[in-house]
Amino acid sequence: MVDSAGHSKNPSAAKKAQKMTPMLEQYQRIKSQYGDAILFYRMGDFYEMFFDDALEAAPLLEVQLTARDKNAENPIPMCGIPHHAAQNYIQKLLSHGKKIAICEQLESPTAGKGVVKRDVIRVVTPALVGDPEIVTEESRHLLVALNETKDNSVEACVLDLFSGDVLLGETQDLRRLEDTLLQWEPKEFLIVSDFANRPWFSKIRQRFSSAAFTERTAYFEEGAYHAVVRYIEETQKVSRLDYLKPPVPLFSATGVALDNTTLATLEVFKTSKGSWEGPTIFNVVNFTQTPMGRRLLKEWLAVPLVDKAAIEARFDTVGIFLGESQKSAVLGAELRYVRDLERLTSKAALNLALPRDIVAIREILKRIPTIKEALADIRAPLASEIHEKLNPLGALTQKLEQALLDESPTSIRDGGIFRDSYSEEIRELRSLAHDAKSTIAGMEKREKEATSIPSLKIKFNKVFGYTIEVTKTHLGRVPAHYIRKQTISTGERYVTEELKDFEQKVLSAETKLKTIEESLFLELRKEIAESAASLLENAHQLATLDVLLGFATAAKVHDWTRPTLHEAWDLKIEDGRHPVVETLLEKGKFVPNSVEFDDSARTLILTGPNMSGKSTIMRQIALISLLAQAGCFVPVKRAALPLVDAIYTRIGSSDDLAGGRSTFMVEMTEMARILRQATAKSLILVDEIGRGTSTYDGLSLAWSLIEFMHNEVRAKTLFATHFHEVTSLEQHAPGIKNMNVLVEKWEGEIIFLHKLAPGICNRSYGIEVAALANLPQPVLVRAREILGHLESQSQRNTRNRSHALQRLQNQMTFFE
Ligand code: ATP
Repeated sequence: MVDSAGHSKNPSAAKKAQKMTPMLEQYQRIKSQYGDAILFYRMGDFYEMFFDDALEAAPLLEVQLTARDKNAENPIPMCGIPHHAAQNYIQKLLSHGKKIAICEQLESPTAGKGVVKRDVIRVVTPALVGDPEIVTEESRHLLVALNETKDNSVEACVLDLFSGDVLLGETQDLRRLEDTLLQWEPKEFLIVSDFANRPWFSKIRQRFSSAAFTERTAYFEEGAYHAVVRYIEETQKVSRLDYLKPPVPLFSATGVALDNTTLATLEVFKTSKGSWEGPTIFNVVNFTQTPMGRRLLKEWLAVPLVDKAAIEARFDTVGIFLGESQKSAVLGAELRYVRDLERLTSKAALNLALPRDIVAIREILKRIPTIKEALADIRAPLASEIHEKLNPLGALTQKLEQALLDESPTSIRDGGIFRDSYSEEIRELRSLAHDAKSTIAGMEKREKEATSIPSLKIKFNKVFGYTIEVTKTHLGRVPAHYIRKQTISTGERYVTEELKDFEQKVLSAETKLKTIEESLFLELRKEIAESAASLLENAHQLATLDVLLGFATAAKVHDWTRPTLHEAWDLKIEDGRHPVVETLLEKGKFVPNSVEFDDSARTLILTGPNMSGKSTIMRQIALISLLAQAGCFVPVKRAALPLVDAIYTRIGSSDDLAGGRSTFMVEMTEMARILRQATAKSLILVDEIGRGTSTYDGLSLAWSLIEFMHNEVRAKTLFATHFHEVTSLEQHAPGIKNMNVLVEKWEGEIIFLHKLAPGICNRSYGIEVAALANLPQPVLVRAREILGHLESQSQRNTRNRSHALQRLQNQMTFFE
């Protein structure tokens, strides 16, 4: 049972236990406060899990399930993992949507008697990971809080804890909510009000089944945003999070609507096989050098702009970077050394940063003056903006430079963090430790002489501290005031009062030094946390610079051109290329194609044999639009592009067996959504609709869909089809234009010209293309024979059918 604040009311395991040792009592007490998390209970070098947690986690972590009190009637299930490998194990649990409460020892085991003091220092959740080392650089970890308001709207708050970005909005349009959430791919939902029984919520639960769902109805009164803040405080154990940015509107469209289907079809981020590696738009465009830049580029490609001025500002800047190659090279060289400032900063703000993380922040800050200087005389709109907004944080940088050693440790507790010069106290204590060496050397020399034992040595080991070592042959000469401490194979070890005193002094100096360094470090980390907002702003500016420089590089490497943009409807691409397919072919082998959409061509019906390049040309138009509105140059000779508000694609078919939908059903559902959402400013690409059913059904659907899109939606529409019948629409509907991809037949073989031209492809060449796939000869011969029959037979039918179609077209009175 978990109550609304996630606290376990009745840990079932408690009852099973035989006898509660003080340690287990402590465990139960802590566990009861973190009912919905797996408790990592620190014991020495391990994190242990007990009871139900152990039963649940052991198989997920693939570790041995054992038992405490094996001989008792009800042994306690238990499993453990070494603390130094915790990150990997946490990652595994997160990927299963689990939360992990990390419970540490708060005092050293020798400090007192009884059970060591322990408590949970933070809770890692699928969305609130905190430590960037647990996750990959690219992965986003977003939390979405959902709350139902009094007027039955749903309030949603999206949080990225790493960047401090917050989006907030309210809607009654639940479809919109779902679509928006799909774009953000949240890792975890925070359910603030009690809507477990609402049908729309069940749908969300189903749609996002891989996300974690956390209930915190106790936060209801405060609304979604405050619930998010409270949940951060609860899990991350921080009281102030100044670095969260002010919320921006979640539902107002600020970019081109690209749904997941479109991003997948166009292979923007992943290949058709679902891989991040390989021929994708992202990989072709990506010349960024920083992790922040890569994440921002993803954002820019996923949500291209609709604001002309903003896009032109990107174009201007990219153009100037292209022209100023020397200055761009300087900037690029600096960025190469910039690490993930965003995640390092949030790590500091969440009290997780280690000394080497702060050194990394310092090293990034040290590059800012050079970057600013290089930007100063680049006369491009965004270059000036970045120049202005980059904050070198001079005083902080200087302080970090004076404070931290370059070779910084990963631990906070073991000293070795600060420069001698940073604090007088550190310097003194270090010189004491340093002097110890020469003091010992002096003492050793003196004792050798006093005892006449030439092999006498003063040594240090962790267990016995400083001892005087005497080999067996000289044991007779050991003076009476030596106190025997330990026998070793080669002789004996002794101490003296003097040595004991000295050791005490050195050890206490070392302990003191470590304590001082630790507390100074915590202070310094706090200072970083206080500057978190400025640091994150810097991170954002560096990311922007990185993406824009990368666009310039992409334009240069791939020979891309700046298009012109306009607010009108028409689209004109001269010699456009497919940005990815082109890179896969030998240089110069890709055939460029021109396309025009205007009053006389609002809907293009595209025919052509299989393999001729229909899909390529369709995708290429969409990609040119997408890249342009992201602010990137495009693979064209010339292009005049309108601002599109959305790109919809219905290309290729796959079934959604998990979602319980067949190929045909997926196709129709997607079409339904496109027709519902698209506007005249959208770009719609449809390939092969209605092929999964009988010819007449399919043809009728295709026909009627084209009519509807052309007359009602009025978007720029490209419709590829094998139903040749629909090409007759051109004659009757102004604005519908037939295009085809040319092929030639030469000595019985088919030659693909990949050239787009007005008109209809009057043959399907299916058998010729099949021949290219090396189907067995008998199959091909027989297919040709059947085709011959069918064709002669259908001559008569065609005549009848064309009469029928003629009648249909005459009915289409709503065409202009
Ligand atoms: P199907 O109807 O079978 O889906 P299609 O007509 O859609 O075929 P595409 O998949 O677009 O054909 O193209 C087939 C192949 O032809 C591509 O993989 C590519 O290698 C090549 N190709 C397409 N367009 C061009 C072009 N413009 N220049 C050079 N090669 C091209």
